[in-house]
Order: sequence, then structure tokens, then C-alpha cells
Amino acid sequence: MFNRCRTRSTIFSIASFALASFGWSLANAQLETGWKAHDLSRPLPKVATPADEDLTVSPPSDAVILFDGSDLKQWSDSQGGKSKWQVKDGVLIATPKSGNLFTKKKFSDCQLHLEWEIPADIKREGQARGNSGVYFMESFEIQILDTLTNKTYADGMAGAIYGQYPPLVNAARPAGKWQSYDIVFHGPRFNEDGSLKSRATATVFLNGILIQDNSEFLGPTTWIKHQDYSKSPNKRRLSLQDHGNPTRFRNIWIRELVSERPQPEKPYPSPEVELSDDKMKRLVGDYGDFKVSNSGDRLFCRFFQTEMELVPLSESEFLMKKCAGKLVFDLDANGEVKEAKLHLDAAGKRVGTKKSATAK
Ligand code: MG
Repeated sequence: MFNRCRTRSTIFSIASFALASFGWSLANAQLETGWKAHDLSRPLPKVATPADEDLTVSPPSDAVILFDGSDLKQWSDSQGGKSKWQVKDGVLIATPKSGNLFTKKKFSDCQLHLEWEIPADIKREGQARGNSGVYFMESFEIQILDTLTNKTYADGMAGAIYGQYPPLVNAARPAGKWQSYDIVFHGPRFNEDGSLKSRATATVFLNGILIQDNSEFLGPTTWIKHQDYSKSPNKRRLSLQDHGNPTRFRNIWIRELVSERPQPEKPYPSPEVELSDDKMKRLVGDYGDFKVSNSGDRLFCRFFQTEMELVPLSESEFLMKKCAGKLVFDLDANGEVKEAKLHLDAAGKRVGTKKSATAK
């Protein structure tokens, strides 16, 4: 969208950088998008017609099943009481004047699968045509609306980050058809002083088609304006919107994302000895399945068309720098190589005797 007016974009970028320099980073949403909320001149995305079949995905074993067609035991009203939303024939129905529906459990980073349907007999137009939405952390709405042909503002279409970013394409199906959302959401992060560290993001597939690609929420979504972040708890409830329309839902499940990966006890190794030129060059050679060469004071092992730097632990034992494995030389009393054993954790052991003193 910035290509439409490069000069204006440049000014916005400079302004954003200047604000960031003063610690007001990420604050002014309009400066960054160039669009006011619900700007009717904002281009509508092109249609990308999804496949005809329902893309229903059964929950994996580690999912929290929020709705399987039976009851509302995972949900409550805004105050934690019993919600008036209805469950009928295995379908959850947004019931007008019941208020939003909230999960009892709180979430932050997650993968959500949710299926929704605008009733085929929907009569109203614009933002009143089947409006609902899924809110992450009670604050960040991915819009639900009948928008295949219904005209409305681009940042209020199905799959929009409401009031901020339209979907990349219009991948909606017509009213009366079930549609699916698969959403990866990451919550915002805050510094200890309460300032914003990183924004919330969403990657969204509608009916199997990518419509938000790691999009950043400019702030909590709201009607008619952009809104800035303020520090919020790490986890909050997921919510479905009651916008006065009987939008229907089924098969809702969520997986909490684990953001921290296990770290190795030892990262990439460092040399534990220093080899003299002479000692290094005695190891260089062609060993059949693998070859050893040197470049300056660094030693390399080539195997399977891969060259890996060797990290000396001793004069005869070397770890692969970036691969789980090691190369061990059996040296005679004069320090000459009798044989060499290449151990690759993922690909077994190779034993070689030196075929030549060069590694070509
Ligand atoms: Mg909505």
C-alpha cells in the first residue's frame, strides 16, 4: 500500500523513526498504515475463491477443546457467569443481546481452529450482515462477517484485523456455507516499565487461504478509531463477539504455543587445544568416505558433499562445529595417522585409512 505514494511513505517512516527515538515507538497507528480507521477509499482485496469442501480439522491430542458440539462448559459471560449463547444441533449460536462469550481459561500465544457460518437467510447489509468476531486476549479482533459480495469497509471484512488491516485476499465463502479460521496468534510483550516491547501478531488462514501474514496489531482493535497499547496481563480470555447477529460456530479448539525451545547444555564448541602447523598437516588427507583438509589454522572434514569445520579437543579428537559428530584419529608413536573414525550421530560411523596425503 505504501507504493501508492512513496513520498508520503517516506515521511511516515521518518516520523515513525523519530517517535521511536523518543521512546514513543509503535504508538501512532495511522502514521504507519497511512489509512484512517474504516477509510472507504481503501482498496478492497481481490477475491481468491477457496476450495468447495469444508476444511474442518479435528483437534490434535494437545489441544484444549473449546467447543465440540455438546455444551458451553469451557465458556462464560463477561462476568464469569452462565452465558445465554445457545447450543443447538451441535452448533453454537451467537445469541443477540447476550453479550460476548468468553473462555473460562486464559490464553496468550496460541493456535486456534474455529469454524463459523453466517446463516443463509441473513437479511441485513454492511457491518450488520452476520457480524461477529474472535477476540484474542479480549482485545484483538479478527473480524467475522459475510463479505464475499457484501460491501463494507476493507478493514472490516471477514479476516480483517478489525479497523487496521484488511485481509490480503477475499477468501470468504457465501452465507450458508461453513468457513474455517486457522490462526496463529502471539500476544504483545511489555517492558518492566510498562512500555511496549513488541506488538501482538496474527497469521490467519481463511478456508485454507493465507489472509494475514504475521500481521502486527497496531493496538487493541476497536470501532472507528485506532487505539494504542497499554500494559495488560500476559494471558487473557479468548472471546467471541455478540454483534446482534446469529452467527454460528462449531469445532473450536486451541493449542497453547510453547515459545521457549530447550537449549543445549553445550552450544557450538570452542577449541580446547592449539595445533601446530605440523601436527595439523599430518591429519590432512583422503580417507575414502571422507577427506580432511586445512585452510590456514583451521581444519575441515568433507563428507556427503558437505564440508564441516573441525574443533580440536586434543591432538587426535575433533568435534564437528555445527553437526552432531566427531572425528577421532588413531595416531602412532610418531604422531602419524593409523586410521581415522568419523562418527556422525545422525548417520553412523565411517572408518578410514589415509589413501593419500591430499584431500582432493
Ligand atoms: Mg466483529
